[in-house]
Amino acid sequence: MPHRTETDSRKLLRRLRDEMSIADPGQERLDRITTIIAESMGVDVCSIYLFRDPDTLELCATEGLRPESVHQTRLRLGEGLVGKVARLARPVNSANAPAEPGFRYMPETGEEVFTSFLGVPVQRLGERLGVLVVQAKEARQYSDDEIYGLEVVAMVIAEMTELGAFTGETTGFAAPHQNPTLLRGVTAQEGEAEGNVWLHEPRVVITKLVNDDSRAELARLEDAVAQLRVSIDQLLANAGSRDKEHQEVLQTYRMFAHSRGWMKRMEEDIRLGLSAEAAVEKEQSAARARLETVPDAYLRDRLHDLDDLSNRLLRILTGQGSETGAEMPDRPILVARNIGPGELLDYGRKLRGVVLEEGAVGSHATIVARALAIPLVINVPRITTEALNGDHVLVDGTEGMVHLRPDDSVTTAFRDKMAMQAKAQERYAVLRDKPAQARCGTTITLKMNAGLMADLPSLPSSGAEAVGLFRTELQFLTQDRMPRRSELVANYARVLDAAGDRPVYFRTLDIGSDKVMPYMNRPDEPNPAMGWRALRVGLDKPGVLRMQLQALIRAAAGRELSVMFPLVATASEFTRAHDMLLREIAREERMGHPLPEKLKVGAMLETPSLAYAPTSFFEEVDFLSIGGNDLKQFFFAADRENELVRRRYDTLNVSFLTFLQVIVDRCHETNTALSFCGEDAGRPVDALALAGIGIPSLSMRPASIGPVKSLIRRSNLNEVSELIARVQARGLESARPALLDYVGTLVT
Ligand code: PEP
Ligand code: MG
Repeated sequence: MPHRTETDSRKLLRRLRDEMSIADPGQERLDRITTIIAESMGVDVCSIYLFRDPDTLELCATEGLRPESVHQTRLRLGEGLVGKVARLARPVNSANAPAEPGFRYMPETGEEVFTSFLGVPVQRLGERLGVLVVQAKEARQYSDDEIYGLEVVAMVIAEMTELGAFTGETTGFAAPHQNPTLLRGVTAQEGEAEGNVWLHEPRVVITKLVNDDSRAELARLEDAVAQLRVSIDQLLANAGSRDKEHQEVLQTYRMFAHSRGWMKRMEEDIRLGLSAEAAVEKEQSAARARLETVPDAYLRDRLHDLDDLSNRLLRILTGQGSETGAEMPDRPILVARNIGPGELLDYGRKLRGVVLEEGAVGSHATIVARALAIPLVINVPRITTEALNGDHVLVDGTEGMVHLRPDDSVTTAFRDKMAMQAKAQERYAVLRDKPAQARCGTTITLKMNAGLMADLPSLPSSGAEAVGLFRTELQFLTQDRMPRRSELVANYARVLDAAGDRPVYFRTLDIGSDKVMPYMNRPDEPNPAMGWRALRVGLDKPGVLRMQLQALIRAAAGRELSVMFPLVATASEFTRAHDMLLREIAREERMGHPLPEKLKVGAMLETPSLAYAPTSFFEEVDFLSIGGNDLKQFFFAADRENELVRRRYDTLNVSFLTFLQVIVDRCHETNTALSFCGEDAGRPVDALALAGIGIPSLSMRPASIGPVKSLIRRSNLNEVSELIARVQARGLESARPALLDYVGTLVT
């Protein structure tokens, strides 16, 4: 390859651009592109391989290899040097390709005469599209400049692919973003939804790829970066000192925005012939490709920051704001890389479903989606690059799957599934006013979990007898400032009004751990789930808890008030919290405010320690509610938010059930009211086991009440209890198989 100059590169890019304007079928265009590149670069071979499916690359056009191998030669991801380029998303450069480890000789191509090999990935924003290869007979190592030049060409090919330049009957390729695509993620909120994609942040569309005047283009980039820097400084000034985390992110943005390396790479891209926006996107794509391979979470976050920054810069350069003027489709399914709880609440119930590329099971957005009962799938790779506004999409929140642009057979099967569930819900509706009475005569009290005022309308139709857990932190998490006491009073009063004569068990703030309020300073903790959270914060810094207790007392004036404290680990913690509540009541009385007509004070049992608290503790509390989500994570030492372990241990594990029986027995001996309000209470088979070991009350999301009630009514809890005892006696690990068998024998 002769030494190449910037002018050569620019000429080549212009010729490629001109190719785009010729209305030829995709194959002819592809063929001509390989010829142009080979000619312009002075190499013997230029080939374009594109992905046929996520694992298979196909030779789609070549100058120099045997023409009959086009659309015949296929390689798996990672196979041969071409497959290696695709897998690593990095160039492979070899003076002697046949001697490289992993080299695979493809006889049909006639490539045995070519010694040197340079392959670069064709990728767009982390989406792998294919591989661009040049080969030559002479054994030579390509220079860094040559590699760089080929990457720039690959960028243009990626954009052309994206614009559908190579689609059509002759190539056998469908236009991108038309194929049905199944993406797998992680369940964050169960349920199914059909609808149309609504991108939270629509992609910037780049129409100008190649520059005519690199000096003018460099000036555009410089201007845009200057604007970007000013805007970040403004954001930093506005952020003030209240939100440490937000500030840290902005500081990182600022650092990147001033990074010489980043600027230099983009300037180089422009000198080689790209437009300013194409240069930004080329570096963004490279960062995204690195993102997928970086195991370190901190570095990944930084690469995300760079990605965000690139988007801002692209918006400045193209003038495309996040407001594109597009109309939200009907039945919108929100697609985003991530979303804050406040933003999600703003969309509210008009969303049918939410799909996130990132997200976490315990994140605030997840909590809000749960509260709104919107199916949510998180950790869905590539969704923001694959989906276009308006695309038809099926969200299977239960299985953690997303069918993008599904074909008719998938849609029909999905609709059948939804219809069956709707029918089942109708059947459950018939049970609404009937008790959850098992065949043995025992009746289980079913309650619902809530966290937003918006949950309350479903109380009467759910058939729940009470709100067994009202998570008060949502109101704190979804605002960017601390709510005022008067706002809390108004909110709690509305909740009580909506609940009517059904009791509401308010759980005081459980912040810390994963639930962090943006406006409160918090220490960095090595293990926040076991750190300074919930009641621990309330006891050490009582200001907010006191305000909350005052608000609860005022809101409940003249009515029953039930308060429970989260994450109580010792009896003395409960006593201190209880005393605090009594002091606030006395204070309210002194101030002449009307008091609640009746008061119940309880604790959430979420740490194993509390199960072994002194008997006096069980006598002191008015009730206990088992927070199964936390209790299970501490019992098995398995982080409830860590995908690697969170499903590892079964709730019906016999050790766990035996432990729960200790709690049941102690409550029984002391005549203490007991309930269970973790997510497991809403899973029918698990709920049956909990009822079978003697837990008299279960609190769950409203949609679960019907299925749980239906199963309990068909069961005999004495039989369930005996079955669990037999499983225990036999030394089995889990009661699930036996219970599933039992459920299978019940009449429907
Ligand atoms: C629990 O831990 O089971 C619980 C109900 O509380 P949260 O999920 O809010 O921690
Ligand atoms: Mg908890």
